[in-house]
Amino acid sequence: MKFDQAGLHPAMLQNVNLCKYGNPTPIQQYCIPAIKSGHDVIAIAQTGSGKTAAYLIPIIDKLMGKAKKLCASRPNPATYRAGIDPPSRAEPLVVIVAPNRELAIQIFNEARKFCYRSMLRPCVIYGGGPMREQLDQLQKGCDILVASPGRLCDFIDRPTVLTLRRLRYLVIDEADEMLHDDWNEEFTKILSGGGTLTYWTEQEEGNVKYMFFSATFPKPIRDLAKTHLAETHVRLR
Ligand code: AMP
Repeated sequence: MKFDQAGLHPAMLQNVNLCKYGNPTPIQQYCIPAIKSGHDVIAIAQTGSGKTAAYLIPIIDKLMGKAKKLCASRPNPATYRAGIDPPSRAEPLVVIVAPNRELAIQIFNEARKFCYRSMLRPCVIYGGGPMREQLDQLQKGCDILVASPGRLCDFIDRPTVLTLRRLRYLVIDEADEMLHDDWNEEFTKILSGGGTLTYWTEQEEGNVKYMFFSATFPKPIRDLAKTHLAETHVRLR
């Protein structure tokens, strides 16, 4: 499969072409069709394999066609800046959890490239970063949130600022790193969406899609997958 055979939205194909990638990497060959057809995914993938684009391209692609409708509830960036629109509550459609600030920023920068010329707005929040600035970013509206686990939980505890009730995709990147770093409590909170995920499931058709990316596949990751994934797709290196 080449990118132009993947059935991507024309704007996404343009954004991919701007990256000058050439052909999809093996993990992308596997993930793009699987995610586009609505599957949960668990992928064993190392940094450098193209794993970030493997989930960002199909997820953003799926949202692009509906972006106008999906983004209708958040402030227009221009009118917000001019003080016409009030601050809004962030209701991201996608949350990507990364174990550290460096990876979160890297994923955010890739998400920006793939959201180019769409209405979708990516944001990034991480521990050690300025809370006030991150709050401001969220209040401008956020469709795709890249977050470190601790800071994400800080904001989940502030439901007037952030709610996961519209969440459609939850990506856990470098899942094994997060288990090493003992983020178990945060993990549990995030995976339940701070208790709001069922709301979305009841209100609209479909379930939240879960994606786990991990360099190794130890038992705790297998257990998480068993609990949360509707259908498990395992790609071994
Ligand atoms: P990752 O594994 O997500 O950390 O990606 C490693 C690097 O590969 C990043 O700089 C990506 O921009 C780049 N990359 C992603 N997909 C491709 C591709 N299909 N061809 C060439 N480079 C790629």
